[in-house]
Amino acid sequence: MRLRKAARVILIGAPGVGKGTQSERLLQRFPQLSSISSGDLLRHHVKQRTPLGIKVESTMKAGGLVPDDLMLRLISNELTRRGWIYSGHPSGNVMTLASSSASFLLDGFPRTAAQAERLDAIVPINLAVSLRTPLEVIVQRIGGRWVHEPSGRVYNTTFNPPRVPGRDDVTGEPLVRRPDDSEEVYRARWERFRETSEPLLEHYARKGVLWEVHGLSSDEITPKLFREFERRFVE
Ligand code: AMP
Repeated sequence: MRLRKAARVILIGAPGVGKGTQSERLLQRFPQLSSISSGDLLRHHVKQRTPLGIKVESTMKAGGLVPDDLMLRLISNELTRRGWIYSGHPSGNVMTLASSSASFLLDGFPRTAAQAERLDAIVPINLAVSLRTPLEVIVQRIGGRWVHEPSGRVYNTTFNPPRVPGRDDVTGEPLVRRPDDSEEVYRARWERFRETSEPLLEHYARKGVLWEVHGLSSDEITPKLFREFERRFVE
């Protein structure tokens, strides 16, 4: 389906709520969208043993938050690399949106109100989606989560199983568990999410772009999300 208006969207949700799944489905439904997942970008750096990757590895393993400055640099580099923003000032400090028609989805970034404020200065977000699923339901789900690391595709043995168990649908490569999907680390991440998401949600509510969607499963949330996208960006 074609978007008629530029969609600059962020997905906000507790870890394990299905942000990755919804991103994938949105990209399939609206081929003009591209997505950036901050977690995938970071995991890529860790895997490649880049200086940034080495710096953030222990924080990620412990379920902590990577410092805002590092995150901002990582995301604005990626937006620049994709040609969505450019440095419009010789100092390189002032970034400008390259095309008002670029439509994209940010998954996992911004995570804090401070990050959101700094992102606003670069890219005006026009929809912040808050994905809501009860804690007990997510805890159950985390146990069944498998990922295809090279692509970031996420599966769940209960809700979204791969066609062949343990194998990626597209490449057939093996799926792995994320090191930070242990229950203990999960609890730390949930706590961190609760602390930081309140001000983040308030930030976007104040801007008038916050939209909440509730559901017990990804399948329940997806049609609501599609409808809202169509209402805002297609009709
Ligand atoms: P995710 O795959 O989005 O759950 O991210 C995995 C880990 O990467 C998180 O637990 C954080 O340690 C780190 N991370 C991802 N995005 C951010 C962000 N926007 N700010 C700080 N840390 C982040």
